[in-house]
Amino acid sequence: MSIKKALLFGIAEKIGESSGIITHNFFDKKGNILKKVIKDIIPDHHKGLNKIVELLVDGKYGAIHDKKELDAVGHRVVHGGEIFKSPTLIDERVIAEIKKNIPLAPLHNPPNLTGIELARSIFSDSPHVAVFDTAFHQSIPPKAFLYALPYSLYEKHKIRKYGFHGTSHLFVAQEAAKYLGCLLKDLNLITIHLGNGASMAALEKGKCVDTSMGLTPLEGLVMGSRCGDIDPAILFYLANYLDMSMEEIEKLLNKKSGLKGICGENDMREIVAKSRQGDYKAILAADIYCYRIKKYIGAYTAVLGSCDCIVFTGGIGENSSYIRLLCCQGLSKFGVDIDHEKNNRAKGKTAQISSEKSTVKILAIPTNEELKIANETKCVIEKNIKSTIF
Ligand code: ADP
Repeated sequence: MSIKKALLFGIAEKIGESSGIITHNFFDKKGNILKKVIKDIIPDHHKGLNKIVELLVDGKYGAIHDKKELDAVGHRVVHGGEIFKSPTLIDERVIAEIKKNIPLAPLHNPPNLTGIELARSIFSDSPHVAVFDTAFHQSIPPKAFLYALPYSLYEKHKIRKYGFHGTSHLFVAQEAAKYLGCLLKDLNLITIHLGNGASMAALEKGKCVDTSMGLTPLEGLVMGSRCGDIDPAILFYLANYLDMSMEEIEKLLNKKSGLKGICGENDMREIVAKSRQGDYKAILAADIYCYRIKKYIGAYTAVLGSCDCIVFTGGIGENSSYIRLLCCQGLSKFGVDIDHEKNNRAKGKTAQISSEKSTVKILAIPTNEELKIANETKCVIEKNIKSTIF
C-alpha cells in the first residue's frame, strides 16, 4: 500500500544567515493543518536538522517518540547523471557516484550530499534512499538527448540533455492516469511543471521521450529568473562586445533573466495582477512565458504523434487559470480546448479543465514531490533493492 499523506511537513530556511526560519506543519485531531514557526539563527545544516529532530519527537508537535522509529529516509538528489535510472539505496559507492556528478550540477549536488551525510549520521539506524530528479528522463532516446556538438563531448564528458523535475512529472502523470481511469502505459501525455523553475515533458505510453530542460535546468521554458532557450551566440556577444565575464554571464542567465529580466518581477501572482492593470512589461512577460509553452505543446504533440492529455502543475500551473488559458489559446484545431468556467474554478486540487469538444484532456493537478519521494523510498526498502548503479 502506498503512503497517502504526510504526518508532518516543514522547511528550514536561511541556514547560516543572520536570522533563520523553521516552519513546522502538523495536524490537529480533526486533520486541520497547524503551524509552528521558529525564528532563530540556524548556524549550519547539522544544527538545523537536529532542531527538526526535536520537533519530530516532540510530544505536542511531533509524530514519533524516537528517531529510531523511522523506517527509512528519502533524499531528493538533483543530478544522477546517466548512472542512476531509478531510486537507489544509499551506500558509499552511491555517494561517490553522486560526487562524480557535481560538475553537472555544481549548485545542487553538493548541498544534496551535505543533507545525505548529515541525515545518515543523525538517523544512523535507518536505511537512506536517493531519488533523482534526472532518473525519470533516462528513457529519452539519443536523437532527443544529444546536442549537435562533437560526439566526443558526449563520450568523454557526458554533455547531453538530462532533464529535471522528473519526480514531479512522473507523479502528476500517474495521478492523471488514475483520474482518467487508465493505465499510464496506455497514455501519451504532455506534463507542464510551472514553479519558479519550469519544465515540460513528453510521455509516450507513459515513458518520457523528451523534456525541455537540458544539461542543466537553464534550457527550455522561460522561468522566474532563468532565460530558458536562447541563441548560444548571445553569450559571445555579451563577452566580446559588453566585456562581461563568464561569472557575470552565468548570473545574468540564471538570476536576472526570465520573467524577472523582462518585467522586474518573478512572482507570477504579481505579474498577473499587474497585467490586469494594463502594465505593458507584465503583459509582455506573461505573453513570452506562455508563447514558449505553447511552442513546446506543438513540438511535443508532433513528437508524440497524438496526445491524450496535457497536465498543468507547479505553483503556477496548479493555481493560475490566466496562464493556463494563455498557453492553450488558439490550439483548438490541435484538439486542445479549455472550458473557461472549469478553468477558473480549478485551484490547488485535481480538476479537468478541458471542454466537451476537446479531444485532448486538459488537467490541473497539484504536484507532491515529497510524497512521491516517500513512496519511491518505501518501494526500494520493501523490495530490498540494493544500490542500483548502471
Ligand atoms: P518552486 O519551484 O519553488 O517549488 P512553486 O511550485 O511553489 O515553486 O511555484 C512558485 C510560483 O507559483 C511563483 O511564481 C508564484 O507566484 C506562483 N503562484 C502561486 N500561486 C499562484 C496563483 N494563484 N496565481 C499565479 N501564480 C501563482
